[in-house]
This record gives sequence, C-alpha cells and structure tokens, in this order.
Amino acid sequence: MMNLNETLPICIAGQWRLGGGERYATLYPATGEPVAYLHAASVADVEEAIAGADHAFRTSGWAQKNPHERAAVLYRVAQLIRERGEALAQMQRLDNGKPISETRNLVASAAGTFQFFAAACETLEETLTPMRGDNLTMSVYEPMGVVAAITPWNSPIASEAQKMAPALAAGNAVVVKPAEVTPLAALELARICIEAGVPAGMISVLPGKGSVIGDAITLHPLVKRVSFTGGTTTGKHIAHIAADKMMPVSLELGGKSPTMVFEDADLDHAVAGVLYGIFSSSGESCIAGSRLFVARALYDGFMERLAAGAAALRVGDPADERTQMGPLITARHREGIERYVDIGVTDGGRIRTGGVRPKGEKFERGYYYTPTIIEGLSNDQRICQEEIFGPVLVAMPFDDEDDLIRQANDSVYALAAGIWTRDYKRAWRIGRAVQAGNVWINTYKQFSISTPFGGWRDSGLGREKGRLGILQYMEQKAMYWGMNEQPLPWAG
Ligand code: NDP
Repeated sequence: MMNLNETLPICIAGQWRLGGGERYATLYPATGEPVAYLHAASVADVEEAIAGADHAFRTSGWAQKNPHERAAVLYRVAQLIRERGEALAQMQRLDNGKPISETRNLVASAAGTFQFFAAACETLEETLTPMRGDNLTMSVYEPMGVVAAITPWNSPIASEAQKMAPALAAGNAVVVKPAEVTPLAALELARICIEAGVPAGMISVLPGKGSVIGDAITLHPLVKRVSFTGGTTTGKHIAHIAADKMMPVSLELGGKSPTMVFEDADLDHAVAGVLYGIFSSSGESCIAGSRLFVARALYDGFMERLAAGAAALRVGDPADERTQMGPLITARHREGIERYVDIGVTDGGRIRTGGVRPKGEKFERGYYYTPTIIEGLSNDQRICQEEIFGPVLVAMPFDDEDDLIRQANDSVYALAAGIWTRDYKRAWRIGRAVQAGNVWINTYKQFSISTPFGGWRDSGLGREKGRLGILQYMEQKAMYWGMNEQPLPWAG
C-alpha cells in the first residue's frame, strides 16, 4: 500500500513519479485535514502517458495473450484487492468520507468486478455466422488500443474497477482520470494491477482538474474510447468531442430518480427502503431516490414515519461501524446543497426535517449536513427537477397511476426508479411504464455485476457491467474467408 506520509507519485504509463502539475492535498471530509499530498498530472504527463500506453499496447504482448492468460492476471487482481480489503476500505474512507461499512462494500464490489470480467474475458465467444455463398463468415472482436476512464468522487474504487477491469480484459491499455479530490483508490488499483502481472505501461493514473487533464485525454487522437461517469454537463461536453473524433463513448450521468409508494406497500420495508435510497452515501449517488411520490391516502402517516426515521439516522464519524451517513465530499459541495434547500423554501417548500448542519463539537470541522425532507412543492419546481446530489428528498402525494406516471417521467433524467407495492400486477405495469434505465421493485440501490447498468436521456448513453460490458472496449470485425475454388468473375 502507498505511504500516505510521502508526497504521492502518480502513474504515467507504469512509471511512478511526481506529477508535473501543482502540488495539492486531498482532504478527509470528516475533519478537513489533509490525507495525502500529491502533484496533479500536467498536460505533458498526459501526452507521455498516452504515448507510453500506445507503445505498451503495441509491444507488451498483453493484447496477444490468450484470453485465459489475461483472465488469470485479472483473477489475481481480484485476489489482491480482497487480501488488502480492509486497508483499501480505510483508505477509501479517508479519501471521500463515506462510512466504513459502505467503503468495505465498494472494495468487495471492485474485487468482484475484476473477477467477473476475468471470467467474461476467458468465456467470450466469437461467432461463425451463417454462410451466404462460398465464404466462411465470422464476427470477431479486437481490442481498441488506448482507452480512457474518467471517474467521479462518489464511489471511486468501484467506479474505477468498473472501467479498468473490462478495458484490461479486452486487451487495451487504460488511462484513468480519477476525480481530483479522490485520487487514492485509482493509484492503489494501478499498483495492484501491475503487481498482479498487467504490463506496467498498460496503466496510467492521472489525477488533476477535469477541465485540463480530462480535456487533454479526451481530445487526444490516440485515445480510442472514453468511459465516463460524472455530471450531465461534463458528459455532454465529452460527447461533443467524441462526435468530432468519431469516438465511441459511454456516459453514466446524473439522475433525479422517482420512488413510488402505493397504499398496499409493506410500510416497514418501504420506509426503510426510501430512507436508504436517498440518504445512504449522504445522497451523493447518481441513483439516489430523490423524488418521492406517496399515494395520497397514505401520505400523512407515511411521512410521519419517514421524517422520524430520517431524524433518527446516525450521522457522524465515518470510521464508526454504526454510522449510516458521513459528511459530504467538500465544503463547496455542501454550500451547493444548502443553496438548493434555500431555493426549495423560497419556492414555497416546507422543511419537514433536517435542512441544517448538525450541531455539536464532533461535526464542527467536517462537511456534515442533516438528512433533509422537503414537502409542499410540485414536480415542475426547480429542486424537483435538478439533481442536488446530497441528502435532500422532495416528497409529493399522488392521486392515481396515470398522474403518477406522468410526474415520474417528467424529468430530463431517467436513471432509476423504485416501486413499493404488494400487487405484482401493478408492479409490472408501473415498472414497464416508468422511463428509467434501472427499476427496483420492493427494494432499492441493489446491484449485480452481471446486470447491465446505465441511464436514458440526460442520464447517459451506453451500459456498463454485464457479460457484454467487455464488448464496449472492443471493436467488432467481420471476416470473410473465400472458400470458392473458382476466382471471382472479374478475374477474366
Ligand atoms: P463531474 O462531471 O464534474 O466530474 C466527473 C469526472 O469528470 C471528474 O474526474 C472530473 O474531474 C472530470 N471532468 C470534469 N470536467 C471534465 C472535462 N472537461 N473533460 C473530462 N473530464 C472532466 O461530476 P461530479 O464530480 O460533480 O460527480 C458527480 C456527478 O456524477 C453527479 O451528477 C452524478 O449523478 C454523476 N454520477 C453518475 C453515476 C452513474 O453511474 N450514472 C455514478 C456516480 C456519479 P474533476 O476532478 O476536476 O472534477
């Protein structure tokens, strides 16, 4: 593991050295204290990393290995992540302030992702297609070359694994641009990959400002694909660059996901599910269930229970195993959330619970905020439409299914949705009618690496995970082998 007491080197095509950009500190969101110092990558570092990656791709032999050989290395990556799981989870906690119970899950997910894509790599089939004429026809896959992974700060190790594992499994070199404020997990994952046997030049990790480093990577002609997770504005910017380069991209973007509670729901489950859906990860989650619709007949009683549950959540020290909600990522992000709460109130919303920073000595230095529920707004108002990315839930009653579906789908986003009902026919009807990339029925925020994930509309393009996730990092090629004893007619 890295020594956090030293200024950290970054990884430039397998070379570990100080970045050429400005020195900065990453901060522990629970206290505001420095966790590690490093120099950001410079644009010259980006150039060197991509040239080195391209060289490694052409010369290291990684892409030419048999799939089971690449898989064996990636299985070792999974094993090393598990062996160092606790240290990685603690490092991730310091990096972004999530409770330790959550960062342990993220580390387990990262290991599982490498294991899954190792399996996908060694079981990937290429197709012999039906013949039409005297050609043997087949569809095969090739690695792309240098691919880029750009990740946000909210679930670093899992986001990075989700891109690095399939990219490497497919035989590519990968250049990772982690969020400036959370670079540690990506740096450590790079070390683990190299230790496990990925040729060093195949991996770069370039922390730094997205507007500088991210653009330099995305615009680079040798970068053949970008897999991006982050905000919709940045995603659209990357999509424009990709259009100019004719480069494939996948974009996992924001959300404003509706959760719908019907009269016949199991209320114990629904209350717990709604709380978990919005307030876990302090609401800093693309799939946060941030818009709540409750059947009118149920509304008052349900909101009473929900508000009491939110007020009782254990907000505090991320190192405490019992903590349910840690701090927000930065002081600036908390200010942004506070501005949204003010907008909600100015627009006529009532704060049902929360809406303030928690009081007490243990909260003074960290970027904490209380779980917040706002009522009295309609779905077309600003805080019901814009992604807040924090622990703020807007709650509204609904009258009937048509009214509900109209409101649930009235959003530029379409990433996720939650349905709480005991009526399986209704669950099916609503589940099919709601526009979202991911629908949870009587549960929320559950994931499986085998199930493709992504959003519609402003929530993104493309899918990650699933067996076919590896194909996003490959080019498809049709091959025709002439089997005819005769030459083509033009031969004279
Ligand atoms: P950003 O889009 O600001 O940042 C995401 C990453 O992109 C960071 O590494 C950032 O660098 C980088 N970046 C910024 N500008 C550029 C650029 N011009 N070119 C290339 N890269 C750039 O998002 P946030 O940090 O605000 O992350 C939160 C967002 O991510 C939310 O909207 C959330 O919904 C979304 N998200 C989506 C998920 C999904 O799977 N759909 C999962 C998790 C989050 P820097 O560090 O400098 O900001």
